[in-house]
Amino acid sequence: MNKIYDYLVIGAGPAGMSAAIEASKAGLCVLVLDQAASAGGQIYRNLGQAGSKQAKVLGPDYVSGKPLLARFMAAKCDYQPLVQVWHIEAHEKGFVVAVLVSGESITYVTSHLLLANGAMERPIAIAGWDKPGVMTAGAGQILLKSSALLPKQVVLAGSGPLLLLLAQQYRAAGVTITALLDTTPKSNYWYAIPWLVAGLTTPTQLFKGLWLTLVQRIKIPYISGVSHIEVIGKEHASGVRYTVSGKVYDIACNLIMLHQGLIPQTQMAQLLGCPQVWNDFKQCWQTQVGAAGQTPIDGLQVAGDAGAIGGAYLAQLEGRIAGLARVNSAAELRSRRNKLVNLWLRFRIKQLHWARGLIDRLYQPAAWLSEPSGDTVVCRCEQVSAEAITAIANTGCAGVNQLKSFTRAGMGACQGRQCGLNLGYLVAHAQQRPMSEVEPLTVRPPLSPICLGQLARRSEL
Ligand SMILES: Cc1cc2nc3c(=O)[nH]c(=O)nc-3n(C[C@H](O)[C@H](O)[C@H](O)COP(=O)(O)OP(=O)(O)OC[C@H]3O[C@@H](n4cnc5c(N)ncnc54)[C@H](O)[C@@H]3O)c2cc1C
Repeated sequence: MNKIYDYLVIGAGPAGMSAAIEASKAGLCVLVLDQAASAGGQIYRNLGQAGSKQAKVLGPDYVSGKPLLARFMAAKCDYQPLVQVWHIEAHEKGFVVAVLVSGESITYVTSHLLLANGAMERPIAIAGWDKPGVMTAGAGQILLKSSALLPKQVVLAGSGPLLLLLAQQYRAAGVTITALLDTTPKSNYWYAIPWLVAGLTTPTQLFKGLWLTLVQRIKIPYISGVSHIEVIGKEHASGVRYTVSGKVYDIACNLIMLHQGLIPQTQMAQLLGCPQVWNDFKQCWQTQVGAAGQTPIDGLQVAGDAGAIGGAYLAQLEGRIAGLARVNSAAELRSRRNKLVNLWLRFRIKQLHWARGLIDRLYQPAAWLSEPSGDTVVCRCEQVSAEAITAIANTGCAGVNQLKSFTRAGMGACQGRQCGLNLGYLVAHAQQRPMSEVEPLTVRPPLSPICLGQLARRSEL
């Protein structure tokens, strides 16, 4: 019989680390699982191992994670890096989490589960996005953080804080940025003005953001008002074509990094049956969570970017309140917790989500990104084009799940993570329905590819 944990946390980012610190402080038996080689999550990836040169390039926000990381490493909890969660299901004792570790599948049992598995970059289906030579800005940053790998020259294209941050980090590391093509629609700046009031409640963040934007505009070839980007080249990317004020331009390059903001990774919550709601403002599906990360499923919480994109500090607070709520749910510990801390956390979390409205409104993705057409590949795994999807959507198919059966879109190795959102947009456009009515792809195990041999050898649940 497997050991039964009191609290299993998936993700050792700011949210997962904070929750684990609180729960283990109270004496609960806690296990933290993460697919990365070391704790820190996306923002503090490899922080414990980074040398001074790397830390200097990555900037002060990166290094600011050191105290949290140190507290997590000192916490009395089990931490298992390099494990990939591929399945979770309800169990008589709570939940069973199946992971791949060193090529073998093993399972853990827990009474309570926290999903703090973070965000992913918004999938972008533009012509040529699947060619060698195209990657996401996040992937570029992962190479920089985990292996100090840098390109010599790159074109950055898209919109959002992470793109600007990467430009800054690449500049600091001496990478030549041929151009930054900013696809933020000019109208977004006007629509964001009322949200300045919200942004002013976090003045340091606001100032940092403005400074970051300003510096890039001065220091690198910065082209704003860009739309309709496509990657050109036969076998490999050889350039980018884009439009500014109705005029089409080409830039030669053999490495393009795309970015259009972040969306929550909801697949684990979906697998467990958590209802999803469409957030029109953030243009993504979200798991419905309560103030302390609670979900409609008993014993299941979601915290940090996995619930709603909010950034590292907010994720840390959400993790902390989720951990405290878990502790409070253990009756014998209820009296020890300080209600004032809970109240303060709830207030800060609400306020920071409100302040985040400025970033969400400013960087809301341009409408043309949700309208891939022609032979643009939408489902990369199964090579299904936008026109094939639209043709089926036009026949009146019920939604993305029926469309999946007809076209195989969403049925490949990524299980729809890279195409699900765009399939939804295409169905919504073709059938003139709001996205909130086009349900997301149903998630089925495995969450990530697993070999038959590994499946056959897996330990009993
Ligand atoms: C590629 C990328 C780069 C980013 N870089 C920055 C940055 O430099 N600065 C910044 O301010 N913000 C950055 N962000 C935003 C960042 O997500 C948040 O600011 C913050 O890290 C959120 O914390 P979190 O704890 O909610 O999630 P995360 O920090 O994302 O942590 C989630 C953890 O879950 C683990 N995980 C996910 N799926 C599985 C699985 N199936 N099995 C096991 N483990 C799993 C991941 O390895 C990760 O460590 C980045 C986001 C992305 C996607």
